[in-house]
Amino acid sequence: MLLRVGVASHRGLVRETNEDSFLVKQGLYAVCDGMGGARGGEVASQMACQALLELDPSETDEKKLGETIAAANVAVVSRSLSDPQLAGMGTTLTVAVAREDAFLLGHVGDSRAYLLHEGKLLQLTADHSWVGEMLRRGEITQAEAAVHPHRSIITRALGTDLELEPDLFTVPFAPGDRLLLCSDGLSGMLSDEEIAELLKSPDHPQAVAESLVRAALTAGGEDNVTVVVVQGVEDVAGSEEGRISSAGDGDARDEIGVLLGPRDRGEEQVESVAAGRPKRPGLAWQRLRKGPPPGGRVPETRAGLEAAKRPIRRLVTRRRVIAAAVVLVVAALVGGFAAFNSSVYYVGTHEGMVALYRGLPGSLLGIELSSVVEIGTVSYDSLAPYLRERVDAHDLLSKEEGRAFLKTLGTLP
Ligand code: MG
Repeated sequence: MLLRVGVASHRGLVRETNEDSFLVKQGLYAVCDGMGGARGGEVASQMACQALLELDPSETDEKKLGETIAAANVAVVSRSLSDPQLAGMGTTLTVAVAREDAFLLGHVGDSRAYLLHEGKLLQLTADHSWVGEMLRRGEITQAEAAVHPHRSIITRALGTDLELEPDLFTVPFAPGDRLLLCSDGLSGMLSDEEIAELLKSPDHPQAVAESLVRAALTAGGEDNVTVVVVQGVEDVAGSEEGRISSAGDGDARDEIGVLLGPRDRGEEQVESVAAGRPKRPGLAWQRLRKGPPPGGRVPETRAGLEAAKRPIRRLVTRRRVIAAAVVLVVAALVGGFAAFNSSVYYVGTHEGMVALYRGLPGSLLGIELSSVVEIGTVSYDSLAPYLRERVDAHDLLSKEEGRAFLKTLGTLP
């Protein structure tokens, strides 16, 4: 089978920059939709595509693809931590690797892969979005999801969480089939019926990709829109165009070359500027970076203890009965505090090594509130300055988050 490919990407009519990226290499196709302030989204989506570039399609199985996506994730997280301008950046990733008669897909986020097979359009990927999850649980309808005000909040993305679980699966692909990878700038502007209609066109995939992008712009172009169309063509003797081989077919790949884009990022004229639809990284990462939410339980509990001490002094001089009652209240407060204190963790240092502590950092009334529960494998001194900063921050974490952070510290540059 031969593969013909078309690709198109546009900033859209509302956004000032194009934060989408794509990768088109023989047998390897990807769309990534970046998010994050300043140029973060653009950097994240480019980094993800760059990481995928290392894959050799003929030697890529599910395990290898999963490992490459995990490595891309660590790279984006690491860059996001080391550069304040890029803090909190993330990206979706939808990648397709050609097999002999199938595509291996890897997917995180709300970009999509569709298959057009015998005139029928099938969405291959599940959106990792808040709205997508509500839809799968049957809490809202497809029509409600399409216009939901929070439809751009995604629940899984590269760069937002150290523990990332991509969807990995294989779909059969035959001559005559078309595979579509797109960012939500297409699927958010066009219905599946409209997408199917354009994808069915007998034109070359490049013309089809461009017509899909044009249609998204005509429908409002509210977001960056990126489209990769891959068509399976019966292998005709003598043609070398886009040949897929399970053996390392280096020459064919070189002929096709590699397209990483978009190249015209940000150079188009802005036709109109309005508020876009912001994307937010997952909540897990917010927790990891900032500890408990503002006004959380820690200060309340401490204030409660301090407040409880004051009435004791006054009451003891009056009546023992009241004092006993207060003691009970304080005991309840202390008990509640102790329960809370044993449920939080942070990463700090112990005898020069990074370590996981249970409890709050520091002491209260002369009592250390935390103790070491696990000692890591890397020394504090061996960490890069940006990682030392992260350790020194003593952010409050769950046990799982703390362990993941400890484990990852050893793998970051
Ligand atoms: Mg988008």
